[in-house]
Amino acid sequence: MAKKKKSHYHADMLSVEEAREKILREFNSLDEVRISLNESLGCVISKDIISNISVPPWNNSAMDGYAIILEDVKNASDENIIYLDVIEKIAAGELPEKKIISGQSARIMTGAPIPEGSNAVVPFEDTDELSSTSSDLIGIKINVENFENIRKKGEDISKGDLIIKKGVEITPAVVGVLASIGVSTIDVFRRPKIGILSTGNELIEPDQSIKDGKIYNSNTFTISSLTKSFGANPVTQAHSLDTIEDLEKKLNNFEDVDLIVTSAGVSKGDYDVVKDVLSKNGDMNFWSVNMRPAKPLAFGKINIKSKSIPLLGLPGNPVSAMIAFEKFGRYAIDKMMGKKIKHRPIIKAVLQENIYNDDGRRLYARVKVEKSNISSEIIAIPLKNQSSGVLTSMFLSNGLAICPSGTDILKKGQEIDVEMFGWNEEISEIIN
Ligand code: AMP
Ligand code: MG
Repeated sequence: MAKKKKSHYHADMLSVEEAREKILREFNSLDEVRISLNESLGCVISKDIISNISVPPWNNSAMDGYAIILEDVKNASDENIIYLDVIEKIAAGELPEKKIISGQSARIMTGAPIPEGSNAVVPFEDTDELSSTSSDLIGIKINVENFENIRKKGEDISKGDLIIKKGVEITPAVVGVLASIGVSTIDVFRRPKIGILSTGNELIEPDQSIKDGKIYNSNTFTISSLTKSFGANPVTQAHSLDTIEDLEKKLNNFEDVDLIVTSAGVSKGDYDVVKDVLSKNGDMNFWSVNMRPAKPLAFGKINIKSKSIPLLGLPGNPVSAMIAFEKFGRYAIDKMMGKKIKHRPIIKAVLQENIYNDDGRRLYARVKVEKSNISSEIIAIPLKNQSSGVLTSMFLSNGLAICPSGTDILKKGQEIDVEMFGWNEEISEIIN
């Protein structure tokens, strides 16, 4: 019998974008909470920030040197050293006590307030400080411009300025700016709590000893780690068996989470209990998504005690679970955290080996992207084993090459789109 050609027509499938849109409809930004600045990295600011102070709060020195009056030194040079009285020393954290008048200077350290009367600072290296024997007199060897080496009051931030708008994601630099205006607690959208449950009779936990027929549960760990990297808080427990009682018991522990993420039991060949339990206790959809890996996906709401909680059911294969969580879970978390929709950056790279796409779905092939060492090109090297069970391919790659739905092959030498999930070129050597 002739081998039946696989159909490239997927009428019953949702595109990645359609599935994502259906999912995102069910989420909004969570409530606002006030948290300490140190805990805020990755959260989104929920109220505009207006500064109560100027930064810097006063004119201060940008150099270690001498605060002077520039008119006094306008003819100074190596050949024409101009001597000024040193009337005080001002360290950072101190206030000047004296006003500078013509013929005077103050020895000043970086960050110290400029004394009244001074309009420029001459750095140590442009004075005779090293050869001088007197600490009461300093020889100036250069002329300076108005306000040279002075950082002006408010040059960074002016009192009353709108510094950071609601909706901005907190980066390390934002944390620094907030600290610089004396903010120690901040209003943000709450981080979501994500309940994570792997299912499967074949699973054992990594702290147990290996047994025949069993495999270690890795999905709980990748999904909870991804959850943290997306800024949300994972809540995990040991996996559930494929029994109604155990599944219901474990799901019941997720009463106060914002999203439940399960793994396995959503594809066609599965034990029906996962599907049964999800369907029985809520309003669940089981989709086929036009993507590879990670075609089967479940999404809906499940009733836990008196609550109705969104549930995302990932496929069990470790790579599929990660990619589906990246494509759907990450967006839901971002939306709950008040973030704008952020796709991963897509770059162009020259493919180093053919990629075959034999069933016409949109293929996300794991590739290692790097700079070529023989040309200036950015190249994409596909991982040899693209099986969705090969989890090492995820840490040996930094991007997903996109082979569009209906395209059978991406050819070696072709420029392709790669969605980058990491920028680190120092990733591990390919070992297989
Ligand atoms: P399923 O989605 O239940 O058909 O599972 C697909 C494959 O993923 C099977 O080979 C499972 O053994 C494997 N798998 C399921 N759950 C996990 C898990 N938590 N960790 C690692 N592998 C898993
Ligand atoms: Mg299974």
